[in-house]
Amino acid sequence: MIKIKTSEEIELMRESALIVSKTLGEIAKEIKPGVTTLQLDKIAEACIRDQGAIPGFLGLYDFPNTLCMSPNSQVVHGIPNGTPLVEGDIISIDCGALKNGFYGDHAYTFAVGEIAPETEKLLQITKESLYVGIREFKANNRVGDVGYAIQKYCEDEGYGVVRELVGHGLGSKMHEDPEMPNYGKRGRGKKFIEGMVVAIEPMINLGTQRIKQHRDGWTITTQDNKPSAHFEHDVALINGKPELLSTFAYIYEALGITSNEENQFRQKELVL
Ligand code: MG
Ligand code: MG
Repeated sequence: MIKIKTSEEIELMRESALIVSKTLGEIAKEIKPGVTTLQLDKIAEACIRDQGAIPGFLGLYDFPNTLCMSPNSQVVHGIPNGTPLVEGDIISIDCGALKNGFYGDHAYTFAVGEIAPETEKLLQITKESLYVGIREFKANNRVGDVGYAIQKYCEDEGYGVVRELVGHGLGSKMHEDPEMPNYGKRGRGKKFIEGMVVAIEPMINLGTQRIKQHRDGWTITTQDNKPSAHFEHDVALINGKPELLSTFAYIYEALGITSNEENQFRQKELVL
């Protein structure tokens, strides 16, 4: 059952989403060769607690940490550990926070120093596909419209669109209805309703769409061991249109990147 949020609840969800956004911004400052994902995890936990929230993933389905840290061929759900990042890695970082009874859930794939051009392009296209999907989250559209848009955008580049893992409704539970696949058919699936909040999160592979589960019961990797990227925003349906609750602005500030993509998206000027 889809749980519709009031405007007051959506404002609380924005607060939770921004706690995650700020946390990813703090993590962005620390990403460099030599740092371990476990060190970054501790920084994230402190940052979330300093903002009066609690880590959303820690203990959720018994996940052991604050961040899901998935380097290179890991798709999602990687567990932080003591292995240092090295130049040329990519690292997908997924973060959740719970405050006032509502979750934020937001992810970004970072480059560690210089990365291969084909991997750079994978990151760019995956992030673009996130916006391509979000703009279909509007009145009278359906779940399949978002999935179709993301799938087409990424498959046109020859990338593998992961099928087994999907976006989701978000609220007082981390995973609510509806499921939001990154593939689908136009006009199919549940219809979007004013006041819905969803996490849209393309997980896109450079090679095959196929994945495998690690023995730890969590880590998901690509079957061909080629890189995978993951970007996620929390989005509310307000006045028939998608409104971003999370923001990459803190990440861009930390990395010294000038980006107007979110404003352009809001103004419908993002050309993709
Ligand atoms: Mg997430
Ligand atoms: Mg999510």
